[in-house]
Amino acid sequence: MQIAEDTFASIHYTLTNAAGTVIDASPTGQPLTYLHGAGNIVPGLEQALEGRSAGDRFNVAVAPEEGYGQSHPQLIQVVPRAAFQGVDTLEPGMQFEAQGGQGPMLVTVTKVDADEVTVDGNHPLAGETLHFAIEVADVRTATEEELEHGHVHGAGGHHH
Ligand code: ZN
Repeated sequence: MQIAEDTFASIHYTLTNAAGTVIDASPTGQPLTYLHGAGNIVPGLEQALEGRSAGDRFNVAVAPEEGYGQSHPQLIQVVPRAAFQGVDTLEPGMQFEAQGGQGPMLVTVTKVDADEVTVDGNHPLAGETLHFAIEVADVRTATEEELEHGHVHGAGGHHH
């Protein structure tokens, strides 16, 4: 059967950036399970999976607009080191929750100077073209209960 709206699909994936560095991958033998059409995965990947069947292997490049969005320079800010009181070691790559204009947002430290720290509120993959290598492991119809909940039950999904 083919992946379509309201089907449950499991996929093995490897996500690589433009430089060829592997950013993320499904653990060996543990495919990612998702409900197709529910927006559980980035739109560009969901579109590329439409109509695929178990055993299909393909590569897809997802542009930022169909991935994690563009990077917004206004979300990059330089704040005083003193704003991180109680944090002994501050290093690039650390993430903190900060108060943004629309509520809490996750920021990533990108640069640490003696007095100032640069933080980036963009998604770490914003502005990146996402290169996915995909193998479809399984496709089945979603149950009524899964459709109601908007997520997958059982192996690789919710248990409740
Ligand atoms: Zn549920």
